[in-house]
Amino acid sequence: MITNAYLDALVLGAGPGALSIAAALGKENLNVIVLSESDPNKPWPFTYGIWGEEVDQLGLSNLLEHRWSNTVSFFGKGSKNQKDIENIPTKHLRDYGLFDKAKLQQYWLKECDTASIKWEVGKAIELKVDQKISTVTTSTGNQIKSRLVIDATGYKPAFLQIPHEGPIAVQTCYGIVGEFSKPPIEKDQFVLMDYRCDHLNQKEKLEPPTFLYAMDFGQNKFFLEETSLGLSPPLNLKVLKSRLNRRLEYNGIKLLKLEHEEFGEYLPMNMPIPYLDQPILSFGGAAGMVHPASGYLVGSLLRRAPILAKAISKAMENESTSPEQIAKIGWQALWPKEFIRKKALYTFGLEKLMRFKEEQLRNFFIEFFRLPNEQWFKFLTNTLSLRELVKSMWAMYKKAPWKVKWALMQMQGRELKLLWKFIKP
Ligand SMILES: Cc1cc2nc3c(=O)[nH]c(=O)nc-3n(C[C@H](O)[C@H](O)[C@H](O)COP(=O)(O)OP(=O)(O)OC[C@H]3O[C@@H](n4cnc5c(N)ncnc54)[C@H](O)[C@@H]3O)c2cc1C
Repeated sequence: MITNAYLDALVLGAGPGALSIAAALGKENLNVIVLSESDPNKPWPFTYGIWGEEVDQLGLSNLLEHRWSNTVSFFGKGSKNQKDIENIPTKHLRDYGLFDKAKLQQYWLKECDTASIKWEVGKAIELKVDQKISTVTTSTGNQIKSRLVIDATGYKPAFLQIPHEGPIAVQTCYGIVGEFSKPPIEKDQFVLMDYRCDHLNQKEKLEPPTFLYAMDFGQNKFFLEETSLGLSPPLNLKVLKSRLNRRLEYNGIKLLKLEHEEFGEYLPMNMPIPYLDQPILSFGGAAGMVHPASGYLVGSLLRRAPILAKAISKAMENESTSPEQIAKIGWQALWPKEFIRKKALYTFGLEKLMRFKEEQLRNFFIEFFRLPNEQWFKFLTNTLSLRELVKSMWAMYKKAPWKVKWALMQMQGRELKLLWKFIKP
C-alpha cells in the first residue's frame, strides 16, 4: 500500500498525454506519481507528425527525425496524364516534421526524472474521491492517495466521465514503411493529403473518400498511409489497405520490401469535452484535446501542459483546497469558454466535411489552402483566437464554390446543436 499523504498528483497513463503533464507538474515542484499499465519506456505504436514552426516556437526542433520543406497536397481528380492540370500540387510553403518518437518520449521521461517523479506499473481499476483526498486502487491491490488524479488513459479513459453527444467520428489509417519499384512520391517530399482517386471505379468514388499521407524517409524508403479523415462508423482497415494497394497499382508501383505496418484503428476526432464538474482532471486524448479537423494532439500537449500545470500548482498552494476544487480550477484552465466555443466550431466543420462527397471535399480543401498561409496554419494547429477562427471560416464560406456553399448551409444531424454550443458554451 502506498500511503504518501503528501502526494500532490497521480497521473494515469504513459502515452504523450500522461508524460507531458507529469513533466510539466514536475517543473512546478509538485510531488507526482505516474501509474500506467505498461512500462513508460515501452515504444509508442504510432508515428507523430507536426508542422516545423510548432516545434521551432517551442525550441524542440531537435526532437524531429525528419523535416521536409517540399510539402504539398493533391486535390485534383488524378489522371495518368502528368501534364493534366489536376496533377498540379498545392504547395504548402512551410516545413513539416516527423518526431523521432523515442526522442520525444525520452525528452519527457528525462524531465520527469529530473523532477524526481515516481513510477508505478499497474492498471487503475477503482477511484474514490472525498473532501480531502483521492484514492486509486490498482490491479495489484495497491492504493495510491493523492490530492488530484489526472486521467490521461487515452480514448477509452479509466475513470473520466464524458457526456454522450452522438456518434463519434473516427479517423482510421493503414500505413506502410518500405522500398518500392519506383519512388511513390518525389524525392525529399512530404504529402499531407493526396485526394486523387482515379484508381477507384465510379461506384467506389461514391463511397467515403480517403487520402494518401506520404513521406520520403531517404535511402529509398517511404512511408505511405491511406487515411479516412473521420467517419462514423469508421472505415475498415481492410478497405484502406486495399485502396492503398490499388493506388500503387494504378501508378505502376510495386512494394519490394515491407519494413513496418501501422494500423490506426481508433482515433476519435470529436471526443466531447468531459464533464467539467467532476473531481478528477484529464489531459491528452481523453480530455477531448484532439484537433477535430486534423486529428493532431502533440503540439497542443506541448503548448498547454505548462499552462495547466501552473494553474494546478497555484490551486494547491492552499492545503485545505479539496480535490474537487483543484479539479475545477484545472478544468477552467484547460477548457476556458473561448476553447469550448472554438471546439464547437471545429466539430461543426468536421460534421460538414464528413457529409461531403468526394468532389465537394476536394473543392473545399483547394479553397482552404488558398487562405493566407498563416491563417490555415493557425487553423490546423488550433492557435487562432476565436475571433480569428470565425473570420477564417467566414472567408472560406465566401470563397467557396456554390456547390460547397449549398452543402455548408444545409443543417443536418447535430450541426445546429454545435452552433448553439458555439453561441452559448
Ligand atoms: C494512428 C494514429 C496516428 C496519429 N498521428 C498523430 C500525429 O501525427 N500527430 C499528432 O499530433 N497526433 C497524432 N495522433 C493523435 C495522438 O497524438 C495520439 O493518439 C496519442 O497517442 C494520444 O495520447 P494519449 O496519451 O492521450 O493516449 P494514449 O497514447 O492512448 O495513451 C494512453 C495510456 O494510458 C494507459 N492506460 C490505459 N488504461 C489504463 C489504466 N486503466 N490504468 C493505467 N494506465 C492505463 C495506456 O497503457 C497508455 O499508456 C495519432 C493517433 C493515432 C491513433
